[in-house]
Amino acid sequence: MKRKTPYNVILISVDAVSKEDEQRLLQLPVFKYLKENGTYCNNMTTVFPTITYPIHTSAITGVYPDRHKINHNEPWQADVPEDLRRWYWAVNEIGAKTLWKAAAEKGLKTASLLWPVSGKGTGAIRWDFPECMPLRGENPVIKYFKYATKSWLAYTELKWGAKVRKSIKRNDLDDYCCFLVERLLEKKRVPELITVHFADTDFSRHDHGVGSSEDERAMLHTNDMLQRIMDGVRKRGLEEDTVFVVMSDHGQENVDHGYIPLDSVLCDAGIGRAQSIGMGAYVYADNEQDAIRYLEEHKNELHIEKILCNEELRKMHAPKDISLAVQAETGYGYSDRNCECNHVGDHGFGVDHPTAKALLWLCGKPFEKGAEIDSARIVDIAPTIADIMQLSMPDCDGTVIKHK
Ligand SMILES: [Zn+2]
Repeated sequence: MKRKTPYNVILISVDAVSKEDEQRLLQLPVFKYLKENGTYCNNMTTVFPTITYPIHTSAITGVYPDRHKINHNEPWQADVPEDLRRWYWAVNEIGAKTLWKAAAEKGLKTASLLWPVSGKGTGAIRWDFPECMPLRGENPVIKYFKYATKSWLAYTELKWGAKVRKSIKRNDLDDYCCFLVERLLEKKRVPELITVHFADTDFSRHDHGVGSSEDERAMLHTNDMLQRIMDGVRKRGLEEDTVFVVMSDHGQENVDHGYIPLDSVLCDAGIGRAQSIGMGAYVYADNEQDAIRYLEEHKNELHIEKILCNEELRKMHAPKDISLAVQAETGYGYSDRNCECNHVGDHGFGVDHPTAKALLWLCGKPFEKGAEIDSARIVDIAPTIADIMQLSMPDCDGTVIKHK
């Protein structure tokens, strides 16, 4: 059968590692291999806010949050307890064209595993196992059936499911999804576009902190999962036809000084509300000038490093519905009312923060071996993949990264 694309692409996201982790990662065999055998960038600019769902959506659409509409991991649900808040789980919440759609238009088969905002993707995503989380009282299996490709999920659950998957904790879920990618690579027709989001590194940093032994374990685990996928491609004899794109989204930093209950403070002062983005927050106020004045006056005790006003947010292509935000000083986070945040590590800092610099490996025939590029942007990923797969993504904010 004639191939419908010059290259298959496997896009793998490694959550919560940044330039600050570069030395450690490049000692691990797979990350080292990818750098030596492809084009590498340790200075990829991410998007505001520096949280997972908006960033991953920019990676898959090539546009900034002001166009793709995913403004946070979760829609603002003031006063809803954390374990009852729905997140942006379904692909139809994205306001821009995705790579999955562009691939499907070309008649290509796509698979996506644990990718944020990819649920109910049937149509564009042939094998869809999205990231979604059961809320308090919900049955995990029913939850996944609601968002995943039902027939495939039923097949895999009966055949492997709990026999292979140790638990639904994130490290085990990442591992299980790696196993499913290995199985997809054994298919008669291998999906031409596979997207996978590994977040063991993110979960372990939130729970145990940057530099913990759990953090080290998660990095090694992620290295091993990448190795398994690369071995799977090799076994099928597809290494000449496959491009690996490995990206990170943001780093993490330890919240050494704890969380400030900014939402409660603003409520009590009659200023408005705040929605935490970790080491920053959105501010919703009836009178923005009053709110800015209040934040300026209380900058020290609220440990505000920077107040981001409307004009600046528009320049940053921040989500359209956000017109005021704050960034916390290093080592501080902000929490919502009725939510006790006890993360040891977190993100949500500004895009220029050193820990916000993301990493990118591009490895495969179109990319020069051993080359390093000075800079790239998260929004460049989709147009670059579209270019090498000959897909139509005509209206991206990003541009194509140079390749052969
Ligand atoms: Zn993330």
